[in-house]
Amino acid sequence: MFEKILIANRGEIALRVQRACRELGIKTVAVYSEADKEAKYVKLADESVCIGPASSSLSYLNIPAVISAAEVTDAQAIHPGYGFLSENADFAERVEQSGFVFIGPRAETIRLMGDKVSAKNAMKQAGVPCVPGSEGALNDDPVDTIKTAKKVGYPVIIKAAGGGGGRGMRVVHTEAALINAVNMTKAEAQAAFGNPMVYMEKFLENPRHIEIQILADQHGNAVYLGDRDCSMQRRHQKIIEEAPSPLLSTKIRDKIGERCADACRKIKYRGAGTFEFLYENGEFYFIEMNTRLQVEHTVTEMITGLDLVQQQIFVAAGEKLKFRQRDIELRGHAIECRINAEDPYNFVPSPGKISTFHMPGGPGVRIDTHAYAGYTVPSNYDSMIGKLITYGATREQAIARMRIALSEMMIDGIKTNIPLHADLMADAAFHIGGTSIHYLEQKLGIGHK
Ligand code: ADP
Repeated sequence: MFEKILIANRGEIALRVQRACRELGIKTVAVYSEADKEAKYVKLADESVCIGPASSSLSYLNIPAVISAAEVTDAQAIHPGYGFLSENADFAERVEQSGFVFIGPRAETIRLMGDKVSAKNAMKQAGVPCVPGSEGALNDDPVDTIKTAKKVGYPVIIKAAGGGGGRGMRVVHTEAALINAVNMTKAEAQAAFGNPMVYMEKFLENPRHIEIQILADQHGNAVYLGDRDCSMQRRHQKIIEEAPSPLLSTKIRDKIGERCADACRKIKYRGAGTFEFLYENGEFYFIEMNTRLQVEHTVTEMITGLDLVQQQIFVAAGEKLKFRQRDIELRGHAIECRINAEDPYNFVPSPGKISTFHMPGGPGVRIDTHAYAGYTVPSNYDSMIGKLITYGATREQAIARMRIALSEMMIDGIKTNIPLHADLMADAAFHIGGTSIHYLEQKLGIGHK
């Protein structure tokens, strides 16, 4: 087992990974930008190294700085968290070339899945159902593009092959708007992801976002750890997640889960990962695979009793999975609300100093946050400052506990989206069994682009 792990991330996930390491008796190295130097989780780590100024391109995305931090502290492995360098194949490669273990899949797997066109092709070959659309990337011939859209059927969605974080997507309803939309998405994709390649999918009008968590070791074993429903979204970004999806029967869950575990064996996947699907009229359609730990891994932990970060570490250290599929039992229901420093209704970020910080408690309440009273939320990074997770024997109990927890949670000095979460926990459609991915935007009257 490793003696020391460097955590190449910040905020709540840096603290989450640190906790997993400490429990295993592994020493931790925190890296931080100048904007995070006073953060408590940095002080809690055994060692810490400043890797640059506030701008993430000069610090958390600075590959040579992260690798030198591992060198000077003699860490053996690097955990990338989520976001930043976590799905950067070049980083994974450089980590391993420098003699460290990358806690995640092999660089070639990250590369394959990082390009959504190649990911879809690989999944089709592995027998995973995909959203109907173009065969691979769109070429530069408008006549071909128009033909493809006719075949797929409007509305269609144009998506960047290198896209992520809900960006680089455009919905097209008519042929008249098609070519312009393709060109605009290409230009945006080039600017944002350095890759102008785009592809086309049927735009599903009423789907749920359901994803399957998988875990695979380096010895050919792979299991699925149930599903998560992440349909409550705004601008293609999740804000509430739950496990299991209230929509799926055990039989359907097991069938798609087994397909995913099988695909992992076929592509020799290593570590934790997520297959993301849209689910409509009883059918699953693969949209992408995330080759890392996800923000919402917590809800899976609550219903499986497994610590996913520790499992990632065991796999990276070369250990065999200690359980088989039949040993995995999904028990109860868990919900996560992402707590963001932003205006609850117009979503404008609200960085600044937190004055009051009172966290809820009681049975079935989990809080993953690096924030505290007196902490200043920097303006340089994502606005998520924590996650509130509740667990119950049933979905009803998890919702009831979430409502109570939200009413107890007090954060002053900055704006947060707690009031929006409180509204959603009282929402009739959410209560009845969840909503489609477009529901929140329709409810807020903002519609999708
Ligand atoms: P990203 O990598 O940016 O997260 P995804 O491909 O995972 O992009 O899609 C994110 C979200 O965008 C989905 O959860 C869904 O809300 C929406 N979306 C993506 N593809 C489609 C589609 N074909 N039809 C309808 N919505 C879609």
